[in-house]
Amino acid sequence: MRRDMMAAARAGADAVECRLDFLAEIPPRGQLQMLLSDPPVEVIVTCRPTREGGRFAGEESRRLELLRLAGELGAAFVDVEFDVPRRSWPKAQVILSHHDLEGCPREADSIAARMDASPAAVNKLAFTARGPEDALRAFDLIRACRKPTMALAMEEHGVMSRILARKFGAFGTFASLSEGARSAPGQPTIEQFRKLYRWDSIGAGTAVYGVIGCPVAHSLSPAIHNAAFAATGMDAVYVPLRIEPGSESFNRFMDALLERPWMDWRGLSVTIPHKENALACVGAENCDELTRRIGAVNTIAVGPGRHGLLARMGLARVGPARMGGVRGRAASALRGCNTDYAAAIDALCSGMGIPREGLRGRRVAVLGAGGAARATVAALTHYRAAVTIYNRTVERAQRLAGEFTCSAAPIDKAPQSTDEIIINCTPIGMHPHIDATPLERIPRTVKVVFDTIYDPLETRLLRDAACAGCLTVRGLDMFVNQAVAQFEFWTGLPAPRDVMRRVVSESIALPRQTANP
Ligand code: NAP
Repeated sequence: MRRDMMAAARAGADAVECRLDFLAEIPPRGQLQMLLSDPPVEVIVTCRPTREGGRFAGEESRRLELLRLAGELGAAFVDVEFDVPRRSWPKAQVILSHHDLEGCPREADSIAARMDASPAAVNKLAFTARGPEDALRAFDLIRACRKPTMALAMEEHGVMSRILARKFGAFGTFASLSEGARSAPGQPTIEQFRKLYRWDSIGAGTAVYGVIGCPVAHSLSPAIHNAAFAATGMDAVYVPLRIEPGSESFNRFMDALLERPWMDWRGLSVTIPHKENALACVGAENCDELTRRIGAVNTIAVGPGRHGLLARMGLARVGPARMGGVRGRAASALRGCNTDYAAAIDALCSGMGIPREGLRGRRVAVLGAGGAARATVAALTHYRAAVTIYNRTVERAQRLAGEFTCSAAPIDKAPQSTDEIIINCTPIGMHPHIDATPLERIPRTVKVVFDTIYDPLETRLLRDAACAGCLTVRGLDMFVNQAVAQFEFWTGLPAPRDVMRRVVSESIALPRQTANP
């Protein structure tokens, strides 16, 4: 613990929490004294009992005696659970804490109010987040308290409550020293706090952006957008937002977000499986024609929007404002677009060294019929390429082909001898299954192969295509293009493309832990 304390101080921590319940045995007085003497940073001593999710299973009186001793030996703060009677508190600055592993307690407001009225120095509420709305509840609680407060929503749904804590003036947040050393689920490492989320630069006026998806933990969007904000000197932070599949959970979150204008939400990226839900939520009338045609939104701008502007000018339409619920509010606050379309077509055309119009009449095989294929096919057919969609579920390919007037076939028939460009829009070959390929053979007629997969940077399909003498286009180009377009849609500023590209390449090149490399 003493060694970790030093490492935490070197890593930039302002304080450390010593979790005495993680020790195999109750430390004798001498050891506790050694631990707490002349620490490099302030020390919070905690000995969490099992009833609140900790590891201490011994007698309560021994636990309280340990906390009393920690106070006597000079711990800056001692964490005491909310149900411990006042007469048993140690003589120290107390962090009064309440933990709920089931979810955000119904009576959270009254618990926070009672903590606030107590003699404790700091209030702390931690609960398991059942959805991202619980992270927003954490901010409500911090804002409602007069005393320094920490309110943390645990697990992946609640990660934003840890990152944005500083924006709302929380007493602090908890970081782990390394990936494997978390003291609670969903806790980022101190390096992620400082480098990825720029914790030190977050303040009350920081604008908030995020990526909605499920899964979202491994998304590179926080890395690329936070780097872009840093490079342009913007006071903004970008967080991951896990939202379970389904329009209900999507709309619930958007409702909760729109109910809190003080959060300074400015923009959202949307990924699998919510792009269609995003279009329905934003409303087709708040999207451009192309996005409506694609039927999916991957970028949302949050702000007054055009109806809000009209309202300020006294010209608001009455219709949407009367609707109530998320759609009513969305009409005045949200705008949506799809940046995948231009990202795909521009990656392909710049790789081929042709203008978009140069695609006219080219025979293109698109593998896959999901979201990425939909944006790609919309773009290709708009520029009059002759497209065949090959998919595992052939009915899905037929439906897409029907919408965009092109052909469809089963994936095992791909490609036909007339196809000259192949675009992979399936996840086959994606990390960690890097030896897989959607095509065992690349016919001689094929001149160009574009793999939308960006992790790994060089897929097996692209390696095979290069060996067969084809021009290859990497998914990285598309990924960077769509993020650049998102940044510009939100901010109206030119995006730092080179920085964004470098950050993604470096993140992908980093060695990762995997069971099946
Ligand atoms: P999606 O909506 O889930 O669609 C996946 C498509 O791949 C479906 O057509 C599916 O066929 C097919 N597929 C999945 N597993 C397969 C398998 N084992 N064998 C054969 N076909 C399979 O996903 P998406 O959003 O389109 O994303 C697809 C890929 O595109 C991603 O994995 C990602 O690598 C890439 N992408 C890249 C970017 C970028 O910026 N570079 C952006 C978005 C996506 P069924 O219809 O039969 O299920």
